[in-house]
Amino acid sequence: MSFKRGMTMDCTRRDFLKMSGVGLAAGMVLSNPKMDVHVGSKRPNILFLFSDDHACEALSAYGGRFKHIAPTANMDRIAEAGMRFDRAYVTNSICCPSRAVILTGKHSHLNGQVGNGQTFDGSQQTFPKLLQQADYQTALIGKWHLKSDPTGFDYWEVLPGQGKYYNPSFLTPNGEVQYTGYNSDIVTDLGLSWLKDKRDKDKPFMMMLQYKAPHRRFEPNLKHLTLFDDITLPEPGNLFDDYSGRGTAAKTQAMEIATHMNDNDLKLNPPTNLTPEQAAVWNAAYEPKNEAFRNANLEGDDLVRWKYQRYMKDYLRCVRSVDENIGRVLDYLDDSGLSKDTVVMYSSDQGFYLGEHGWFDKRFMYEESYKMPLLARWPRVIKSGTSTSKLVQNLDFAETFLDIAGVKIPSDMQGVSLVPLMKDERPPWRKSLYYQYYGENGHSVEAHEGVSTDRYKLIHFTDLDEWELYDRQNDPYEMNSEYENPEYAGKVQQLKRELTRLKQLYDAPEKPVLP
Ligand code: CA
Repeated sequence: MSFKRGMTMDCTRRDFLKMSGVGLAAGMVLSNPKMDVHVGSKRPNILFLFSDDHACEALSAYGGRFKHIAPTANMDRIAEAGMRFDRAYVTNSICCPSRAVILTGKHSHLNGQVGNGQTFDGSQQTFPKLLQQADYQTALIGKWHLKSDPTGFDYWEVLPGQGKYYNPSFLTPNGEVQYTGYNSDIVTDLGLSWLKDKRDKDKPFMMMLQYKAPHRRFEPNLKHLTLFDDITLPEPGNLFDDYSGRGTAAKTQAMEIATHMNDNDLKLNPPTNLTPEQAAVWNAAYEPKNEAFRNANLEGDDLVRWKYQRYMKDYLRCVRSVDENIGRVLDYLDDSGLSKDTVVMYSSDQGFYLGEHGWFDKRFMYEESYKMPLLARWPRVIKSGTSTSKLVQNLDFAETFLDIAGVKIPSDMQGVSLVPLMKDERPPWRKSLYYQYYGENGHSVEAHEGVSTDRYKLIHFTDLDEWELYDRQNDPYEMNSEYENPEYAGKVQQLKRELTRLKQLYDAPEKPVLP
């Protein structure tokens, strides 16, 4: 049974739930999304806080090796008052595809955004359009990256392309607007301005507030340029991975801190778009550090260790600014009385390698870039301080937002609402997830697809026709593929059948191929 458009709505939804293992209880909620979520209250507001390339390892609600050095106190406020999703995963670990999956509730092969190279088809169905039709006020502010103009938003102000960290311009329906200052601060200012003064306060709102940070080239707020200067950050145990336990793809990527991180990434060159006053601050912070580095003439592992420290300090400085700005937003919700009727979700478009396997960047189905942060706060529904280990994906976000708003979920969306998990209804749930990556020139990561369960991960590098199997209970850092190990032969066959089933369910192509 494939998940084809044109099937009847009920049949498609029912079969999907059955085949994906979600089952009847979740189906009941989906077919009757209003249930008791809205009893005694008006329709909730939805605030989607989103960042770019923020790995769970650098979000203290998830623990991680920076928990005490670089805590994310304000993101943690969302988790402490709500739910932490411990197994949230991306369907395709790269920027534009993740954003398109979130907007459409469909895998990349159906929404058309299979990589960063395509232009998003804004004429298709998206959850903001459906909320807008349901009389929600919708706004999008910050990073967009999908090339076409946003659709489905009453208000939008977005960065052109990747956007600049310092003194960014923004695209609006009325043309380009230039700002002076730091990106994460400005995105927040614009978001707060819309919340306070620009929306119709008689309607519920849905705002997507989307930060550029901590994306490459990891440029911090000027006030944070010396944060962590006197600290040596902990390294991951596999910073010097030699990839001996895996196939070709791990060995041939171009995303190693040792060899692929450039002088701009490492701040050995100054940014080009600073004002003279900003440049003076930047130079005062970095030039002494860069001078000491040049004088040290580091080589080999010592040089890699220096690059790792420089990279991670800048990355964590960028995270700090996102966190501080999320604090400003949460404070406003509290002070304005909006908090109790506003669902706040925090996520990032994928995970990222923070030196694990010696890497930066994303794309692989290996855990660090496959896993994404997901925190949700909904005072009237979610119990505070809870967590779930159910397998969820960014494929589920659109359905969740619609369910929260009491809007019918279209039958051709491929994810499921997370509201039953938020309500602690313990619904039967899916046991496996499907992943696809189409391969692009950047960072030379081979095209692959795969299936993951709570314990195992089977990856097929499709152009290489190489398979890898990981037993994450015994090998949490995915250092040794067990694909050729005869003890795992039965598991391999079982997961191959599951991969085939998921591909049929999602109407996936034979293999991920760029157009
Ligand atoms: Ca990204």
